[in-house]
Amino acid sequence: MNNDTIAIIGGGVIGLSIGWQLLRNGQQVEIYDSNKAGRAASWVSAGMLAPVSEAGFEEMELLNLNLESIKQFPKFAEELKEDSGIDIDFRTEGTMMIAVDRDQAEQLRRLYEFRKKIELPVEWLTGSEAREREPELSPAIKSAVWIPNDYQVDNRNLILALIEAVKKRGGTIHEHTPVESVSVTNDSISGITINGEEKTIKRVVLANGAWAREMKGLPDNVRPPVRPVKGQILTLRMTKEFTLQKVLRSPKVYFAPKKDGRLIVGATVEEKGFETFPTAGGVKYILEEAWEAVPGIYDLPLEEINVGFRPSSRDNEPIISDTPVKGLYIATGHYRHGILLTPVTAYEMAGIILNDKPSELIKPFSLLRFR
Ligand SMILES: Cc1cc2nc3c(=O)[nH]c(=O)nc-3n(C[C@H](O)[C@H](O)[C@H](O)COP(=O)(O)OP(=O)(O)OC[C@H]3O[C@@H](n4cnc5c(N)ncnc54)[C@H](O)[C@@H]3O)c2cc1C
Repeated sequence: MNNDTIAIIGGGVIGLSIGWQLLRNGQQVEIYDSNKAGRAASWVSAGMLAPVSEAGFEEMELLNLNLESIKQFPKFAEELKEDSGIDIDFRTEGTMMIAVDRDQAEQLRRLYEFRKKIELPVEWLTGSEAREREPELSPAIKSAVWIPNDYQVDNRNLILALIEAVKKRGGTIHEHTPVESVSVTNDSISGITINGEEKTIKRVVLANGAWAREMKGLPDNVRPPVRPVKGQILTLRMTKEFTLQKVLRSPKVYFAPKKDGRLIVGATVEEKGFETFPTAGGVKYILEEAWEAVPGIYDLPLEEINVGFRPSSRDNEPIISDTPVKGLYIATGHYRHGILLTPVTAYEMAGIILNDKPSELIKPFSLLRFR
């Protein structure tokens, strides 16, 4: 590692994609992960790219960022395939939001009207119109909203592709190598400590997801206010008799069918710190709600039960930012949108580091908003 190397702490989609973009811009990059790279939140995620279904009433800047990122996905996926040879299965079949009962139908109507008002592309469907488009839906479905432009990727392929692309471009990924602390001297980054040994370094990207707040050595004014939000999520296996093509979302659960036959069904949203185990109650909740919407899942093999920690900031929006410490950059807090926001985070963070200033698009996501 020489003086010009950029060290990235955290090898999830965020750290890997930033590293890869920096490598494509001729930088030297070393990525450190406490475990196997990409096996935390990024691995267990559902891989949905859902700017329109997830648009929140008070989150216009985030909506802009989400829309920009989904626009960048085709180019990002193409570049990634060039560098890795791996296809991330960017799927454009669209997404259907569904209402299983009258209460949910009222809620869906409000969500639909809000999206119409801000001119997002949405279409109202009756229950029978929804079932025509997706015959596996329960006859109990009251209504639905069709969202043609919310897509999905295979997030596991995305990780494998990023790892391959980083290596092909000459980057190094140090797995099972936690960064124990960062050192700051005269308001500038001066090193990172690994295995008790301090290495001199002048540029560091803190991209360790839900763990970012805990990094030792950070001055208080740059410690990102991020907490883990636990999510339990299941993998079912689709059969010849039962397949879904589109992403389906009720207000309580979602279904993301993957090309290799996995059906991802999630997820709980829990404030339980870093509690790593799945619970009987969590699995019961997901399966019960999922079965009500799509009864045909009943006989499908249940392959995996996973737990992940969404990195969530105080306002639930990402932090993609330089900091008052020279040479320290932060990319975390991606909460429910980390896969969706991968392209824009990677391009914008490379821009911040290489041009020394953030673009107008990314300014609202500065760490300084929490001061
Ligand atoms: C159940 C669930 C479903 C989700 N579904 C979606 C979805 O459909 N669409 C979407 O866009 N987003 C989704 N998300 C959110 C998305 O997965 C996250 O926002 C995203 O993965 C965050 O990526 P990351 O790289 O910041 O974090 P992570 O993937 O958690 O990676 C952080 C890495 O940092 C490493 N690390 C921690 N501390 C250190 C240290 N001291 N030194 C070195 N390494 C360290 C960890 O080992 C880990 O690999 C979902 C999340 C969950 C939990």
